[in-house]
Amino acid sequence: MKKFPTIGILGGGQLAQMLALDGYPLGFRFVFFDPTADACAGLVGELMVADYDNEIALDEFAKKCDYVTYDFENVPVAAAEFVAKRTEIFPKPEVLEVAQDRMMEKSLFKSLDLPVGDFYAVDSYSELVFAAKSCHNNGFLKTRRLGYDGKGQYRIRAKTDLKELWSTLEGNSYIFEQAIEFEREVSVICARKADGEIKFYSLCENKHKKGILTTTLVPAKPSEHSKNAFKYAEKIAKELDYVGVLAVEMFETSEGLLINEIAPRVHNSGHWSIEGAVTSQFENHLRAGCDLALGSTDMSKGYAAMINWISEIPKIALKSSEKDLYWHIYGKEERKGRKVGHSTVVAQDAQTLHNRVVNLLDLLQSN
Ligand code: ADP
Ligand code: MG
Repeated sequence: MKKFPTIGILGGGQLAQMLALDGYPLGFRFVFFDPTADACAGLVGELMVADYDNEIALDEFAKKCDYVTYDFENVPVAAAEFVAKRTEIFPKPEVLEVAQDRMMEKSLFKSLDLPVGDFYAVDSYSELVFAAKSCHNNGFLKTRRLGYDGKGQYRIRAKTDLKELWSTLEGNSYIFEQAIEFEREVSVICARKADGEIKFYSLCENKHKKGILTTTLVPAKPSEHSKNAFKYAEKIAKELDYVGVLAVEMFETSEGLLINEIAPRVHNSGHWSIEGAVTSQFENHLRAGCDLALGSTDMSKGYAAMINWISEIPKIALKSSEKDLYWHIYGKEERKGRKVGHSTVVAQDAQTLHNRVVNLLDLLQSN
């Protein structure tokens, strides 16, 4: 490996920003590629602004980079393949293809004999009616492609007027998923190298509001089923010949885990690892991609919690300086439903973590 490799990141959001912030101490350099001029990674490094189908720009970008990776999974596969012909890219574009299409993703889990809720492809009104009926009118209709943070999803219940809903939808392809009665949601964050070495972070327990992650607690309390989470994630990573950090989201029900989706990148539920783990998910993603030894994924203090700031940054941010509380503000314009920052709280025991999170929430209420 070159002494000071340049890492290119397709997508210039907060994940790219945090990858760079954790890559600079390793001597790495960064170039970001994003269609929007105010992409927040541009605050910490060179940002190339061009559309993903601009081959002249992509060629220039690839030539600058020793390795390329992604900050989100909806980068067009054609752009990733174009870059892959010119420089090293991780994970490989085929992985993006699977992660971009919920049908392909869920079919992969099934083909690996992994537990997954019932799902149906929906391309017509009659298929929607059939799927809804099969799931006892309790499910989620989702666009197969380009959804994130709960976007492109419709909750279907007995009272939903399917005809009316279908008439408002555009000609996309959809997936219908049975609604899972879960006890909690968990995610596995792991880092895998090309030679198959894999390291897991402690299991994350996640809370969502309107499809957007709000809180992550680590480690998730062990349960009868939770240890299977790591086995399932490893099976997926191995099948995909995966290089880098992979996140696998799962539902935990009383009967066991069901795989929800994968993210072929660093993940919001792993942000706590910046302060809460010996090596962050961002550093380990870069280490895996550059074939360097993976860093320890052990927790640095024992317990961690991450709270997302959605739509706006709390007024007290930065004004408060509490022990073991960290603010991350991405520098993005505040906008409804947009992730604009997060806080991490760490502690040596579960009770102290709980108290610190409650204190933080009290502080927010009183301001
Ligand atoms: P994305 O994160 O790509 O927007 P997800 O499939 O993870 O899409 O959906 C976001 C959240 O919506 C999930 O974390 C979960 O809280 C809820 N959700 C999605 N699908 C289901 C389902 N089939 N059953 C129950 N809850 C669901
Ligand atoms: Mg999700």
